[in-house]
Amino acid sequence: MADLQTDIRYLKGIGEKKALAFQKLGVFTLYDLLCCFPRRYEDRSVYKPIGLTVHGETVCIRALVADTPRLSRIRRGLDLVKFRAVDESGMVDITYFNQSYRKDGIHKGESYVFYGKIEVSGARRAMTNPVCEREDSEGGVTGRIVPVYRMNAALNQRTILQAVRQALESCREELPELLPEEIRRAEELCTARYAFENIHFPADFQALDIARRRLVFEELFVLACALGKMRETRVKEQGFRLQPVDVEEFYAALPFRPTGAQRRAVSEALADLSSGNVMNRLVQGDVGSGKTMVAAALVWAAWKNGLCSAFMAPTEILAQQHLSTMERFLSPFGIRLGKLTGSSTAKEKREVKAKLQSGELDLIIGTHALFSQDVEYKNLGLVITDEQHRFGVNQRSAMIGKGARPHVLVMSATPIPRTLALILYGDLDVSIIDELPPGRQKVDTFAVDESYRARLNGFIRKLAAEGRQIFVVCPMVEENDDLPMELKSAEEHARELQEAFPELRVACVHGRMKPKEKDAVMAAFVSGEADILVSTTVIEVGVDVPNACLMVVENAERFGLSQLHQLRGRVGRGSHKSWCILVSDADGEEVRARLDILCKTNDGFKVAEEDLRLRGPGDFFGSRQSGLPEMHVADLGGDAQVLQRAQQAALRLLDQDPSLAEHPALRERVNRLFHDSADSFN
Ligand code: ADP
Ligand code: MG
Repeated sequence: MADLQTDIRYLKGIGEKKALAFQKLGVFTLYDLLCCFPRRYEDRSVYKPIGLTVHGETVCIRALVADTPRLSRIRRGLDLVKFRAVDESGMVDITYFNQSYRKDGIHKGESYVFYGKIEVSGARRAMTNPVCEREDSEGGVTGRIVPVYRMNAALNQRTILQAVRQALESCREELPELLPEEIRRAEELCTARYAFENIHFPADFQALDIARRRLVFEELFVLACALGKMRETRVKEQGFRLQPVDVEEFYAALPFRPTGAQRRAVSEALADLSSGNVMNRLVQGDVGSGKTMVAAALVWAAWKNGLCSAFMAPTEILAQQHLSTMERFLSPFGIRLGKLTGSSTAKEKREVKAKLQSGELDLIIGTHALFSQDVEYKNLGLVITDEQHRFGVNQRSAMIGKGARPHVLVMSATPIPRTLALILYGDLDVSIIDELPPGRQKVDTFAVDESYRARLNGFIRKLAAEGRQIFVVCPMVEENDDLPMELKSAEEHARELQEAFPELRVACVHGRMKPKEKDAVMAAFVSGEADILVSTTVIEVGVDVPNACLMVVENAERFGLSQLHQLRGRVGRGSHKSWCILVSDADGEEVRARLDILCKTNDGFKVAEEDLRLRGPGDFFGSRQSGLPEMHVADLGGDAQVLQRAQQAALRLLDQDPSLAEHPALRERVNRLFHDSADSFN
């Protein structure tokens, strides 16, 4: 007997080879298979008499094959099978290209259903390569709404469809009902069984709608439970209760006036710090919005309370930059700073560790090294991490294990539309800095194609002659990527640029380099030892090079809008007028429309909203960016209202049953949610 955990090899027609192909799609068990929902559907439910069909329509006809199918070989690699089919209202000529087996599979005098596009010329009707099955065939693929699945080379639609059908047959009694009965009723949702049956083989479009509505709700509900549970466990934790401080004292020492949004974020976080509970706050703000100062204000408040803070950056070079910024903000108060990274010498490490242990440092800045086992903290009260999408939910929780429940502040420069951020970061409270410091210049952005190359090179030459520096970003080329050849790899493009500009110094960093090597190249670029830096998106994460005033993105169509916006944020950080040039030869209005958005606005939140609208949330919230698991059915943009309802229901349930002990199936799924997607972090 099969159950949901049974291996797909159990199914008829699934041997080793097909099983491997399924595994590439992430499908191992029957349950995985059932959770592979169709991408779209074909309406093959409408039958028409042949005589009533019109040119260009796609329909099912029931017809008798009137003559023996004839095979003719036109030339090598091209053969045809032709025959005529009739019903009471008319006739149609049917042709199959390169499907010679049809000759023996279709018999004169028998009835079939054909599904395909009708072509009418004069009084004659024709169909080419229609879907065909015998009228009496079981579980057919005509006469109904037929699912269309995501497939790959080794799996065709029929294989997938038959596998899903078998899986459903064997397991329909066991499909877990994750939704508590009251919630299911209150939300007027169908049962799990109905939903699975109709998402794959909808009886009609209404049934499909009902099924989809339930699965969307379920998916968002599970997500909300998972996030809600994380928050529950955190909120209940007692934290250091800081004595209130007068933050004006800190502001007065700054070289600038904080913006309203910065003040708001600081106040929200300070309120957390003195609440008695542990703070878990995300500060989200566009590149350049001044998140570092917010962090500094909290470090200052912790220091006033005799607590030490740790600030973790994703790379060495960013750690170095944060150190200089923080020194500027905090040294005037006599706050003692230190740095600890993988490349610190053994002696430095020893000294810093000793100081941390004895409480002689008030702020330590570094990389992951900060949280390695042998680092001990005295009075660690606050942990700050920068650029959260590089760490993800799991890493975050691993690292707060240090010290006695320190407060946590996460800073992210990936703007997410406000309504969604509040819900999606269910495990964190969110502050949004939606205002840039005054006097920021706009980065002029242009989308161009290859024909602009010569002018672009001229522009690069001119800027370099003026002493400016230039970023060039190429998409990451993965080894298994079957990409069109014209895609530029960073290394190759760097070589080309060096040939085009023999007088300039071209440096290159890419994904396959070791972190140390990357940091060395970046550091050299920051200190002006190269004119052009060619890279993959490793520079996305926030290094400041005020002298850089041009960002060129090659194959811009390969990047998400939010990512492009981040890249653009690398320039315009100094006093020089700055530009961003998006190079793309991809045709298509969609690509143009996307790149146009960037040309029109410099506001990261607007870009994020448009990105979400255009690309669909699957990509936008791809787990790599957001640390969230991939959604199968839910559309986090379009289903925002359902998301809200699902979240309310989840919070109510967690109120009654915080550990979900009374809902074991749900609990298991919730626990698995982040576990399964853990691999995709970083
Ligand atoms: P991000 O949010 O991208 O981390 P930073 O914190 O690095 O931004 O700030 C970007 C730059 O703006 C820094 O040079 C910082 O000193 C400056 N800055 C921050 N806040 C203000 C402000 N209120 N007024 C003027 N400049 C500011
Ligand atoms: Mg920053």
